[in-house]
Amino acid sequence: MDFSFSPDEEQFRQEVRDFIAREVPPGLETGVGGFVESEDEWQFARGMTKKLAAKGWLSMAWPKEYGGQDAHMKSVILSEEMNYLGAPGLDFGGVGMLAPALMAHGTEEQKKRFLPGIASGDVLWCQGWSEPGAGSDLPSLTTRAVEDCDDFVINGQKVWTSHAQHANWCFLLVKTDPDAEPKHRGISFLLVDFKTPGITISPLITMADERAFSEVFYDNVRVPKENLVGEKNRGWRVAMIAAGFERSGIYRIALARRNVDRLIQYAKEPQPDGIVPARDPLVRQNLADLYIEGEISRILAYRVAWQQAQGLQPEWEASMARLFGCEFQQHVAHTGMEIMGLYGLLRENSKWANTECKMARQSLLAVGATIAAGTSEVQRNAIAMRGLGLPRG
Ligand SMILES: Cc1cc2nc3c(=O)[nH]c(=O)nc-3n(C[C@H](O)[C@H](O)[C@H](O)COP(=O)(O)OP(=O)(O)OC[C@H]3O[C@@H](n4cnc5c(N)ncnc54)[C@H](O)[C@@H]3O)c2cc1C
Repeated sequence: MDFSFSPDEEQFRQEVRDFIAREVPPGLETGVGGFVESEDEWQFARGMTKKLAAKGWLSMAWPKEYGGQDAHMKSVILSEEMNYLGAPGLDFGGVGMLAPALMAHGTEEQKKRFLPGIASGDVLWCQGWSEPGAGSDLPSLTTRAVEDCDDFVINGQKVWTSHAQHANWCFLLVKTDPDAEPKHRGISFLLVDFKTPGITISPLITMADERAFSEVFYDNVRVPKENLVGEKNRGWRVAMIAAGFERSGIYRIALARRNVDRLIQYAKEPQPDGIVPARDPLVRQNLADLYIEGEISRILAYRVAWQQAQGLQPEWEASMARLFGCEFQQHVAHTGMEIMGLYGLLRENSKWANTECKMARQSLLAVGATIAAGTSEVQRNAIAMRGLGLPRG
């Protein structure tokens, strides 16, 4: 059994590190999933996306026939390094979700029209799936699309749409047959230009005081039928490809490992009261536990990435990696807050805050980790049923 990367992959890892050292000013870091704090940071992140695209790195996991490099493991290394070092610019919605769905189910015309804008980083996509009454039970969504001449006319509401305020386009799940049983057989997958009249985007501010996502209202929004991906009422298949592309969750794990390494450093240094946290046996044991969890998370994630690189479809293995990685991220944040005590509560704008650890922000951002893209309960159900063969409750 050999868990190491090839010399070529290790060389690429160093190349990524050098690139980040050149391009990202010290101290500029993003949170989970590229969430940024200010408009300036957002503009910087967009610039980084363009630089990644120019190097061919943004879409390096895509097959060569679509302009990629078939370099799945290298794209995992890229994500790991970018997130460990807090560098913004990777694109999730377009590169990681929509593109694989288009390659599998899009028409030739749709591929020619949409893939180049994703690979170049020029067109930013968001994911319009969740609704106030449909999250884990996504097939219950009620946003309706009705055919009218050459268009679909959309009415309804989406929620938690990440980056909606910056996105140019949205890949949207709509109900085209409300009477279908099972419910997922009445869903279609539409591509919606956010400039279309009738769309209202309303901000949602997270508990970390950041505008990460939005509510999006659709009021008689007309979308040409040529923007339907796959067959009408069969959008669930398209959505499952989009949901399944990069499932290793390595980005979260990298970010959490970075925080563990910083906490270790923090614990070694005397604090303003003169105490060195690492002298406390409980602190040492907690940090040892976190380190072990980080290593396990990493191996689980690499396994999923490797399976995908072989053209396999990891299912419950991906749920396992995701679940463990998300809970690791939260464990790091909770333990960090305990180790740092009252200092951990301070945000970066306080002169007493530890700007290396940014633990208050990390801990607020970590809450959503076990909710986004499938809650922990949903992942455990998937592992129990598909992995262990246990019956549905
Ligand atoms: C940071 C973040 C970013 C997001 N970005 C997007 C985005 O860009 N686009 C988008 O469409 N959505 C996005 N979401 C929404 C996300 O997909 C949903 O929040 C998620 O699917 C859960 O749905 P819900 O919030 O409606 O909770 P519910 O589904 O209502 O769940 C409530 C609780 O019930 C539990 N539960 C539900 N069903 C079961 C079951 N069968 N068995 C056991 N327990 C169950 C859940 O685990 C949870 O604890 C984002 C969410 C977060 C936190």
